[in-house]
Amino acid sequence: MPRILIAECKQEVSTFNPHLSGYEDFAVRRGADLIEYHRTIRNEIGGALSVFDSTPTVVLVPAYSAFFITSGGTLERSAWHRIASEFLDSIRAAPPVDGVYFCMHGAMASQDETDPEGWLLAETRKILGEDIPIVVSLDLHGILTERMIRHSDAIVAYHTYPHVDFFETGQRAARLLLRILAGEARPVTAVVPIPALVRGDQLITATGLFGQSIRIARQVETGPR
Ligand SMILES: [Zn+2]
Repeated sequence: MPRILIAECKQEVSTFNPHLSGYEDFAVRRGADLIEYHRTIRNEIGGALSVFDSTPTVVLVPAYSAFFITSGGTLERSAWHRIASEFLDSIRAAPPVDGVYFCMHGAMASQDETDPEGWLLAETRKILGEDIPIVVSLDLHGILTERMIRHSDAIVAYHTYPHVDFFETGQRAARLLLRILAGEARPVTAVVPIPALVRGDQLITATGLFGQSIRIARQVETGPR
C-alpha cells in the first residue's frame, strides 16, 4: 500500500522583470484542499492524481502547494523563506511515506537563492533520507541544476511548447513513481547539454527546431536500445 506524498512549489521567474514577486502572488493550498482542487484541473498534479486514483492501493499524503499562476519577477527574499519553510514544515509534519511526487517548474529564483527547486530537494532529502524515491515534474525550458538532479530520483518534463501536456506530464511522473515503488524501474539521470540557442518561433515543438530534440529523445525512449 504505497503512501505517496504530493507537494508543489511552482513559479516561472524572469529576472529581467524589475517587479519583485511576493507571497500574495501565490495560491497556497494544503492537505485535502490541495487534492480536491487539483482533481478538477488538467495540470500536472491533476494528471498524477488521475493515475494514483485509479491505483486502488495508493494512499495519498497531500502536503503543500504554492503555485504562481503566471510568470513574474524575482521572488522577494522573505516570501521565498516563508514558502520554503511552509513547504518543508508540511513534509516534516507528514506521516511516513514510501514515495514523493513534487510538481515544480525549474525556473524559480529568489533574491538570495538562484536554485530554489534544488534547495528544496536537498532539504527534503535531509528530512526523508536517501531511500524514499522522489519524482519531479518540470517545465521543459526550466533551468536544470546539478543539485536538482542529485537530490531527485527522476525528473520528467513537458514535451510540448506551447504547453498542452501538463496533465500527461503529471501522469508520466506518477506512472514512473509507481514503477520505482514496484521495483520495476531504477532510473539513472544523465545530462546531455545540446549546443543550441533557439529563438522564439523555433521553440514551438510541433514546427520548430526545438521539437526535433524532443522527438529524438522520445525515439530513444521507445526504441529497443
Ligand atoms: Zn513554460
